Parts: sequence; structure tokens; C-alpha cells
Amino acid sequence: NILIEFKHVSKIYPNGARGLKDIHLHIDKGEFVVIVGLSGAGKSTLLRSINRLHMITEGEIIVNQKSITRAKGKELYEIRRDIGMIFQNFNLVRRSSVMRNVLSGRVGYHSTLRMVLGLFPNRDKELALEALERVGLREKAYVRADQLSGGQQQRVSIARALAQEANIILADEPVASLDPLTTRQVMDDLARINQELHITMVVNLHSVELAKEYATRIIGLRDGEVVFDGAVSEATDEV
Ligand code: ADP
Ligand code: ADP
Repeated sequence: NILIEFKHVSKIYPNGARGLKDIHLHIDKGEFVVIVGLSGAGKSTLLRSINRLHMITEGEIIVNQKSITRAKGKELYEIRRDIGMIFQNFNLVRRSSVMRNVLSGRVGYHSTLRMVLGLFPNRDKELALEALERVGLREKAYVRADQLSGGQQQRVSIARALAQEANIILADEPVASLDPLTTRQVMDDLARINQELHITMVVNLHSVELAKEYATRIIGLRDGEVVFDGAVSEATDEV
């Protein structure tokens, strides 16, 4: 039940910096994969390649049985609709309400005109509220995003991915700017969503300790190469 497949993927940036070197791996449905490695190891480069936030230089990436490397137009759009993305800095529209931010996950389901006018069907609003409920923020729906704490904002971005009905969530250092307590709340939410909704998680972390606590599988990167890939029990602190 392969969901994401890297076939000999390499990425070299235009300035010559190597992002990834010959990555060959697959991720199955329902896994909670944590990618670890020092700063500059290639974690973001790997994650951003999955939904093609940038092009890879060599190889191919298959998502949900479709090649995102070769996809164009509507096909690319449809592959991306299954992939939710969570960033270190939350990427919310800070001056908009929590609800509007979560609803923005629904944009791919409607015409541009509808979205420009901000006309979301009731069904979307129900989905958005349900998503907020799941991260414990339903009562904050009509608060402005920038009124929330960092941890709450990150949970709004998780709700946005849920409202999108993504079956994959990519999280690039989702807790790097959070304190230890909030870090735990956000990681617990991701773990619960992984278990309850069987959404596949690919999460970049720089803390091996945290990775061991939450991952079902850890992939260690160094200089753009996989140096460890295995079960949590086999991982040493050196990955
Ligand atoms: P992180 O380690 O969290 O990925 P970085 O500080 O490495 O953060 O990167 C921040 C931003 O700068 C990213 O958008 C990344 O793509 C870009 N970046 C990183 N390294 C370089 C580089 N050598 N040249 C140009 N841009 C870079
Ligand atoms: P990590 O997320 O593990 O910190 P990155 O994927 O950000 O690592 O970076 C991997 C390598 O690619 C680093 O050498 C970094 O400097 C380089 N890099 C990242 N983004 C860019 C960019 N936009 N332009 C040039 N080089 C980059």
C-alpha cells in the first residue's frame, strides 16, 4: 500500500548546492515518518519535493500512484489536493479569522470566482468546524488568527489540512518555534490524527528524542543522503 515513492531522486539547487542525492524509498499508507538530520541535511528539500514546491533535478516521485514529477495543470492540482502542508511559521493569514484560515483548505474544491467572493457552502463550514473540533479549537473559530498563541496557530494549520481532506500531511519543522509543552500538544494532535483518521504523516524534526517518541519510522539524512531508515527501536542517538 505505497503512498509516496522516491525513485532515485536527486536535487541540485541552481547555485550548485546539493539538496538530495539519489534518494530511493517508499512510504506506506498510515505511517508516521519522522525525518531527522542536522540543519542543511536536506530535510526541507525532501519534504518540499513531495508536493513539488520545487522541481527535482533527477528521478521521479510518485504520490497516490501518480507521478507528481511529470504532472501538469489539473492533474498536478489534484495530486496536491491530497497533500496538506504544515510549516514552522504556521503560514496563516494573520489578520483573518481562524475559520477563514481553515476554510482556505477547501479552496481547491471550488471555482476561483466563488473563492474570490468568499462563498463557502455550508458543507465546507461544517467540515471546517469539525476540523477545529479535532484540534480542540472550535470555540476559537471566529477569533482573529493572530490573537492565538503559537501552539494554537499551529493547530489551526493542522485543522486547515484536515478541512482540505488531505490523506498525507507534510510538516516541515512544525514545532521548531514552540515551547516544550506546546510542542507536545501539537505532536499529540498529529499522532492522534494519524491514528484516528489514518492520515499519513511525514514530519521533519531536528530532535531525535522527539522523533523516537512519535515516529513509527525514522529516516535520517546527512548531506542529502539517507543514512538511517528503520523502526524507532533500532534508532540510536547518532542518526
Ligand atoms: P531550514 O534549515 O529550516 O530549512 P534554512 O535557513 O536552511 O532553514 O533556509 C531558509 C530558507 O533559505 C529556505 O527557503 C531555503 O530554501 C533557503 N536557503 C537555504 N540555504 C540556502 C542557500 N544556500 N542559498 C539560497 N537559499 C537557501
Ligand atoms: P534542512 O531542512 O535539513 O535544514 P535543507 O533541505 O534546507 O536542509 O538544505 C539542504 C541543502 O540545500 C543545504 O546545503 C542548503 O544550504 C541547500 N539549500 C536549501 N535551500 C536552498 C535554496 N533555496 N537555494 C540553494 N541552496 C539551498
